[in-house]
Amino acid sequence: MVMKIAFIGAQTGDEGKGVRVAYYVKKAVSKIPSQNSSVWTMRWQGGANAGHTVFCDGLKYALHQVPSGILIDGTYNIMGEGVFLEPRGIVKEIILLREKGVRIDNTNFGISSNAHVTFGYHIEMDSTSSAAMTGHTSTGRGIKPTAVDKYGRVGVRFEEFLNRDSFIEALKHRFPLGMPAQFGTYESFVDSYAEDMKVLAPFSVLQSDILNNSNFKFGFAEGAQGFQLDVDRGLYPGITSSNPSIVPFRANKIIGVVKLYASSVGGGRPFIGRMNEELETSLRDLWNERGTTTGKPRSIGWLDIVALKHAIRSCDIDSLVSTCGDRIQDLTKKGEKMRLIFGYKINGKIFTQWDKSFHRRDVLYNAEPVFEEFDSWDIFFDKEKRELTPKAFAFIERIEELTGKKFAAHGYGPGIDDVLEIEDILSE
Ligand code: GDP
Ligand code: MG
Repeated sequence: MVMKIAFIGAQTGDEGKGVRVAYYVKKAVSKIPSQNSSVWTMRWQGGANAGHTVFCDGLKYALHQVPSGILIDGTYNIMGEGVFLEPRGIVKEIILLREKGVRIDNTNFGISSNAHVTFGYHIEMDSTSSAAMTGHTSTGRGIKPTAVDKYGRVGVRFEEFLNRDSFIEALKHRFPLGMPAQFGTYESFVDSYAEDMKVLAPFSVLQSDILNNSNFKFGFAEGAQGFQLDVDRGLYPGITSSNPSIVPFRANKIIGVVKLYASSVGGGRPFIGRMNEELETSLRDLWNERGTTTGKPRSIGWLDIVALKHAIRSCDIDSLVSTCGDRIQDLTKKGEKMRLIFGYKINGKIFTQWDKSFHRRDVLYNAEPVFEEFDSWDIFFDKEKRELTPKAFAFIERIEELTGKKFAAHGYGPGIDDVLEIEDILSE
């Protein structure tokens, strides 16, 4: 039996999922004597709009489409069937990873044969229409137009992309009157991808063959964005085009990754409890809070317990893993208290639970945060005692009390091994 563990970003994305998943993948591999692909890892949704930064063995890797497990020997890494593939970006990412000495071939990397492909025309459509329509500052990577084509039944699946005749047929279906002039003819457009097809063809796999292969002992899946960007559950319309909060297989455990403050990139959604501008700017510069893929500055705020409880209930999250506890020490230096958002005050009424009215997009724009304050801390994790410092622990304990969920581990740095484990999620 494969033990399958899914990691969901419990906030607005960039919680530090990538690096924490990499920690568990490394640990799982080390538990198994045979190093020959005993662990699979997958991204199940999103596309070239996601990004994860992982520091591994002293090197910094920015992963955009390839799952972070690729950095660890003994893994097989798959881009799942719900992913949007941007072929040129993947080819580039493969080349960059290889240049850094990462092995990536068809024994450790696969792409689901039915995932949808993003093309130049999607990227062009994205840059012209997205922001204007929703106020949501899109990443401009063509994800939304690819999703629109997928649901409109005029998309192109990876296996079709790899076959010249099928690709041409699919394009005829998409553009019955001929390709838009700037993209040439059906044939020339397809042939412009010939090199990419050659590089990517060996990677096409049937996802269910991988997930059910009994050689694997562990499987790890990682949401590409956070809960609040989920197309169905998130803060519409400031959402992404897929479901980072819905795991596409029966997971043995679902872990919520929680950054101990809030950060958000892209607009079109309210951000309750955003820090005052001066504090936000100084922390953003200090922490370099910018999107891994987009480089866009992230907005920074306080941990939102109302939203976190909603994510936990919606996703059946079993336990939590915290990140960025170490960064909070900078608040102490600035003479600032640590805060969490205990409730929302809307038109004089206080909500401590998510309410159905919040799905009316104007409501949360009128919400004022109700805070609880805590002493910030100088050090999050005491390396000598291998435990949280008392002030950090008090904050963590309060989160556990309010959410009813325990932390299985705490991340205290950007490195793959910067983790204090409380409970072993890999044991049965
Ligand atoms: P993801 O999309 O959820 O994987 O997160 P990103 O990698 O896009 O963004 C998280 C950022 O925080 C990255 O720059 C990480 O290197 C960094 N990071 C993650 N965990 C920690 C942590 O515990 N402490 C600190 N200081 N940085 C962290
Ligand atoms: Mg990210």
